[in-house]
Amino acid sequence: MIDAHIHLDQYENIEMKINSWQKAGIKKVIAVSYDLASSYKTLELKEKFPDFILAGAGFHPEKGLPKESDFQEWQRLIRQERNNIACIGEIGLPHYELEKLPHSLESHMDFFKRCLHTAEEHSLPAALHAVYDKAAIVYEILQQETPDIAAHFHWLKAQMEVVRQITAAGYYVSLTPEVCYRERDQVLATFIPMEQLLMETDGPWPFKGPFEGKETTPLFLPDIAAFLAKERKMNIHTLKEQILHNTMRLYGSNI
Ligand SMILES: [Zn+2]
Repeated sequence: MIDAHIHLDQYENIEMKINSWQKAGIKKVIAVSYDLASSYKTLELKEKFPDFILAGAGFHPEKGLPKESDFQEWQRLIRQERNNIACIGEIGLPHYELEKLPHSLESHMDFFKRCLHTAEEHSLPAALHAVYDKAAIVYEILQQETPDIAAHFHWLKAQMEVVRQITAAGYYVSLTPEVCYRERDQVLATFIPMEQLLMETDGPWPFKGPFEGKETTPLFLPDIAAFLAKERKMNIHTLKEQILHNTMRLYGSNI
């Protein structure tokens, strides 16, 4: 199994943890980044665990716009480290923090386009943060600006009409541990074609339901797989294989 979206740089004692996850059968993780410093840190971890980590470099939209000098340095970093980078992410548009951030949605849209063009320039897929009404805007921007790049809508929350457009365009969508206990995500799950489905934890983000009070790690993935196998009436090994294949098709061919 592969965790298709996790913030490895946010964990303490990560090296010990990775060893235990590997022993438990987690094959790889897609480690996304928050900002310039986080992109450096993720790449350092990638150097230590080259086979386990597929590294993403990006600017989390809920953190606000970076300084121009940070963006320029980040672009240089990507050029230098291109062979160690699997995706541009996490990028997208802010939703939860938008009201509190100093810049307008339009400024965030402009910045997001620049990130997408960086992905296009390096033939990299995009790991996207695009929730609620921002999902439709992100979809439109992708189609207009960079229709040829592959993209993954992580932890998608959107109207089903938008989910339908996103999947019809061939983009990937991941499910989090919430699918095990939250109806909204269970409904979403029914809309994702098997070939575009990924699993993620967004760790260390905490979950509720059966995961309440536990540290979020890729060790939650077997629960997601078990839930989906039951829902889709599929053999669990076949389901895990298919999802692994999807994740590698999207993120594994660039490095
Ligand atoms: Zn994330």
